[in-house]
Formats: sequence, C-alpha cells, structure tokens
Amino acid sequence: MSANTAPFDAAAASTAYRSALEVIAAVEPTIAGAIRSELADQRASLKLIASENYASPAVLLTMGSWLSDKYAEGTIGHRFYAGCQNIDTVEQTAADHAKALFDAPHAYVQPHSGIDANLVAFWAILAHRVESPALEKAGAKHVNDLTDEDWQDLRHALGDQRALGMSLDAGGHLTHGFRPNISGKMFHQASYGTDPSTELLDYEKVRAQAKEFKPLVLIAGYSAYPRRVNFAKMREIADEVGATLMVDMAHFAGLVAGKVFTGDFNPVPFAHVTTTTTHKSLRGPRGGMVLCQPEYADAVDRGCPMVLGGPLGQVMAAKAVALAEARTPLFQSYAQNVADNAVTLAEGLKRRGVRLVTDGTDNHLVLLDVSGFGLTGRQAESALLDSGIVTNRNAIPRDPNGAWYTSGVRIGTPALTSRGFGAAEFDKTAELIVDVLTGTTPNPAPSGGASKAKYTIADGVAAKTHAAAAELLDANPLYPGLDLG
Ligand code: PLP
Repeated sequence: MSANTAPFDAAAASTAYRSALEVIAAVEPTIAGAIRSELADQRASLKLIASENYASPAVLLTMGSWLSDKYAEGTIGHRFYAGCQNIDTVEQTAADHAKALFDAPHAYVQPHSGIDANLVAFWAILAHRVESPALEKAGAKHVNDLTDEDWQDLRHALGDQRALGMSLDAGGHLTHGFRPNISGKMFHQASYGTDPSTELLDYEKVRAQAKEFKPLVLIAGYSAYPRRVNFAKMREIADEVGATLMVDMAHFAGLVAGKVFTGDFNPVPFAHVTTTTTHKSLRGPRGGMVLCQPEYADAVDRGCPMVLGGPLGQVMAAKAVALAEARTPLFQSYAQNVADNAVTLAEGLKRRGVRLVTDGTDNHLVLLDVSGFGLTGRQAESALLDSGIVTNRNAIPRDPNGAWYTSGVRIGTPALTSRGFGAAEFDKTAELIVDVLTGTTPNPAPSGGASKAKYTIADGVAAKTHAAAAELLDANPLYPGLDLG
C-alpha cells in the first residue's frame, strides 16, 4: 500500500476475499456481485467526499465474523445476557485503545453511528444535569420510584432545556439542534453562525449569544466548516454560562488522533462529552464513539439499552483494530498529509480563480462557492460526477440557493490521501475540478432564467477529465495487489 496506510499481505487478503465471495455467491450471487462492483467503483473514482475514507483490509475483515451473532446489551462485565466474555474482551480492547489514543478519561465504543453517539451524549447530559438533581430533590433513587407528580415535573424540566449549536449553513450538523431533527425537539434550540465578512467563527458573538440564551448544552463541531475550532475558548464560554460543552468531532477525529489538532484545538481535554464517528478521517469501520469526563461516564455507559440497540460486536472489534492502527506513527504522518494536502488543494483552486468559503482551510476539507461559475452546487456536483470526480454539494453561509440546490461543493482529502495522493496529485485535482466548472453552463429553465438543476458540459471536457483522473488513480492504486480473481 501507499506510504499513508499500513502494509498488508496482499496474497493473504486476496485469498480471504476470494473465498468469502465464493461462500456468499453460493447463497446470494447478487450480493457477491455488489461487493465486487463496489470495490471496482471505489478503485475507479476520484473520491473527494470529505466524510469518506478507505478502511484497511484488517478492519474490513474483522467485521465478517461470528462476533456478530452475540447479544451483549449492557456494558463490559454488566451484561443482560450470559456468555459475553469475548465481547467484553473486544469492547474493553477498543475502549482502552480509544482512551490511550485520545487521552480520554472514559470511552464508550458501542454507538452504531455518529448520530447514535450524539443521541447517547444528549441522553447522558440530560440524565446527569437534569434527571439526577430532580431525583435527589424528590428523594428517589430511580425514575420508577417517582410519583406521577414528580414525574410530570421531571418531564417538564427535561423538555425545557436549551441547546446552542452551529447553524447548518455555517457548517453545523443536523443533530446539533436543527429543528426537524430530534435534537431540535429534545431541546429548545438556537444556533450560532459565522461572521458575514470573514465567514469565520466569532467567539465573542457566540459568548454573547450563550449569555443571553443560557443553554444547558453548548455544541461545537461541524460537517462543513473548513477551519479549526478553538475548544479552549468554547469551554470558557460554556463555563461562563454553566453549560455542558459537547464537541462532535466526527469529521476531524483523525486529525486529533494524528496529533495535528493539539493544544486549544484538541477538543478532548476541554469538552465534557466528545462524540465522533469512526469511519471518516479516523479510517475505521462505520460507527460512533463517545469520550467523556468521569462525571458523565455512568450515564454514557447506559447508552445501551436506554438509547441504542444491542452493541455490534463485530464492529466494536473492527474499531479496536482501526484504533490500534491510529496509534502508530504512520497514522500521524497520514493525518499531517491530510491537512497539508487540503492546503495544496485550496491553494490550487484559489490560484485558478475559485472562491473558497473562509478563503481557505486548516483542516481536511474545502468548501467551494461555485456561484462565480454561474452554477448551483447541484449542477456542479453532477457535472463533476459526470467527469469522474465524486464530491457533494453543500450550502454555504447565507446560501441564496437553499439547502437542496446550494451554491457550494464540499471536498476533502482523507480518502485520496489514504490512496497515496500528495501535493502534485492534489494540485492536478484542483486543475481538473476547475476545468469541469469552467466548461459547464446552466441550461435555460422552461419558464425563462437559468435552471438550478440542468446543465451542459462543453464537448470533450468530461472525457478528458475522466482520462486524467484515471491516470492519477492508476498511479495510486487502492489496495494494491488485492485481486478478487
Ligand atoms: N456528526 C457530524 C459532524 C457529521 O458530519 C455526521 C455525518 O456526516 C454525523 C455526526 C453523523 O454520522 P453517521 O452518519 O455515522 O450517523
């Protein structure tokens, strides 16, 4: 494999996958075919989706095991089912790696995804900050011991809490209090945006808003903000208003693990509760995790069965393998390359005339404003896909085209850096993106004006881009030597 990923025995992995596919095909050939096709598609696409990556064969193979067959509700050593000793080993190993990697007092590795991790965090914060004091006041140990009147009081208190998170168009996530999401229903919510001229977070404005709104939870973290966040400042603000600081590092966990985000930019020492996915920049299996300070650990550990379904033993095992990989010096150089490559990509785009939200990046992602090309984000995303470049459209701050058509395209470097792309390849990628955007024009809408969805790519542009992308991909193969036969 490239210098950014752990070496693996290609002959052994090829044998393992060929045999597995044979066994699967004997029962349901369609699925074996889809698995083969997915690898072919992944190998053939210039994947710039900021939230995706390529897990190692060791991580992927770990998921295909009988650990899947065991029910293990509860936590390590306290299960609702007998015979969980191997799942205990798996969960303990993953949690130990997570604690060591992030220097966290407590790690809960059961959440099935990032959204699930956020739900566990919200539940734990409400349990710790609202339910426990209410039980104490009522002289009860457990909610089952409350009178109907006490219970109504508690329900009222739970429903009355406030959360303040980053707005969707500034780069926040749906689960950070967006009204249609359950987080916007569990909490009275408000959101903070970015400065209209710099498009950067204005900590003093967040402070003023927090002082006025008085949230129980201050949420930091993002899906589409191309900058580091100063978590020391966010904690200061949370402390000033008595809020719990929850940081969702789903996108940039790999940069924290790889020691690119250190000091004030590492959320773990500052947040009361930190949530993450394990499959984005962290390059593990699809899943989630919660890290927290000791006072939240009890409630967090009750995530299953209070919020989550039974833990997926095979995925916790794959998390352990991925976290072991992330504790190596190789992963640290990978993470640094992800950040360096994002700067190269941003500079390459700017030099060729693209406006970037916040004028650049200092994490793993870049947000292009494609309105200068006369395109919507949706047209740009589709034209790039037609040309072999996989991205996703994304709203930009105060987006005039809204969240469906958008004016932005979000791209990121974690996946292609795993493939071995460096500065030269990312500069070439910037050139290809600009060639496609320049060569695409919106079609007129039937009612006059320009369509927000339809477009035309100038003759030859898509084919030329496909060929140039294929050259880059061939020179940096995905899982080199892995042959499915
Ligand atoms: N949190 C953030 C910041 C995200 O960007 C995402 C997904 O894109 C999630 C949570 C949700 O993760 P999942 O899809 O694993 O539920």
